[in-house]
Amino acid sequence: MKPIIVVHHHEIGLKGKNRGYFEKHLLRNVRLTLKGLLPQNAVTGGFGRFIIYIDPNQEVTNEVIGRLKKVFGLSNICFGFETGQSIEEFNSIAESLLIEKSFSTICVKTSRANKAYPKTSVEVNKEVGAFLCSRFNVRANLSQPDETIYIEIVDKLAYVYLSKIPGAGGLPAGVSGRVVSLISAGFDSPVASYKIMKRGAYVVYVHFHSYPFVSHNSIDQVKKILELLTQYQYFSKLYLVPFAECQQDIVLKTPQPLRVILYRRMMVRVAERIATNEKANALVTGESLGQVASQTLRNIRVINNAAKLPILRPLVGSDKEEIIDVARKIETYDICKEPYDDCCSFLTPRNPETWADPAEIAEAEAQFDVNDWIEKLLVKTEKVEFKFPSSYT
Ligand code: ATP
Ligand code: MG
Repeated sequence: MKPIIVVHHHEIGLKGKNRGYFEKHLLRNVRLTLKGLLPQNAVTGGFGRFIIYIDPNQEVTNEVIGRLKKVFGLSNICFGFETGQSIEEFNSIAESLLIEKSFSTICVKTSRANKAYPKTSVEVNKEVGAFLCSRFNVRANLSQPDETIYIEIVDKLAYVYLSKIPGAGGLPAGVSGRVVSLISAGFDSPVASYKIMKRGAYVVYVHFHSYPFVSHNSIDQVKKILELLTQYQYFSKLYLVPFAECQQDIVLKTPQPLRVILYRRMMVRVAERIATNEKANALVTGESLGQVASQTLRNIRVINNAAKLPILRPLVGSDKEEIIDVARKIETYDICKEPYDDCCSFLTPRNPETWADPAEIAEAEAQFDVNDWIEKLLVKTEKVEFKFPSSYT
């Protein structure tokens, strides 16, 4: 009898031909996140779920579960044992899994990959179910049981486990292709990045800062945020763009109310170039409709026009409270609540334009050399890499 964790795949069943591709990514991600905790061959795959052979050390197991909870593409995380194929073994493992639980209804769900097994799934369900009902004095309930015991009968073995911990859901990190996310030290863009990662995008990050004209702290905060976000995709790149000189040029040459939109359009252009180098298919921002002056529909349209790549805005329909709830859940909240020198508050106008006119924007941009700035900013851009876990190679 060996202790195991069984993790079920989320949504993958829906993906038809892509299933093999998704499962391969998911298996790689599960193995990656457990690096340094369990040997790579502790995770074996197939049939809509993976079996993970665990260490009896409880501390290691807690860490294993903590990491598995952050793997996108898993629907739930279950504990159990690998065992032989007799009903007595099923009964005794089910009993040990339930002994400390308080419950009044139970369901047993058996599946047989080994069709040569002498009993049908329904017969196993009934026999083990009857044993558990009398042992714990509970009733069977097949639609909404308090506890469910799973029995999977495979070639020469069986897995018996109890379902409990919900997984992260979503799609395996990386299966949907690459995006470049414009990330600040504010609440919104880290949450937007998390949400798009959860849909399977691999995120490359770009942050614009005004150092050395202001302090270094937006960079430090973004780095701390990336330590957290890298737990979901295992390897991240952050491009740091020193933006202050370009901002000063914009300030000198263009009307005050247009500044924020002009900054944003420059950011989008530089991010698009990085996206092209990175073979990414979209940009991502943390904008939410109407949240601040630069996020009116008209301004969003004008900002979009600066790029050919689509700009995805996972938070466009979210309220601030909804965004903050996610920020707390993913622990970026505590970092983002600290004050920081935002490059957009550096040299920001008092009365920003809320309804930008494309002709006026074009006229303002004719006053400075947009293409020359893009090249200069790219030359000065630095790249930082993040890895999770630390044993990732
Ligand atoms: P956030 O909380 O993400 O900073 P916000 O509500 O403060 O967003 P804005 O400051 O208008 O809104 O920024 C809108 C979006 O533009 C951000 O969500 C982010 O995607 C991008 N952005 C803003 N500042 C920066 C920056 N310094 N570097 C990279 N991207 C930025
Ligand atoms: Mg901001």
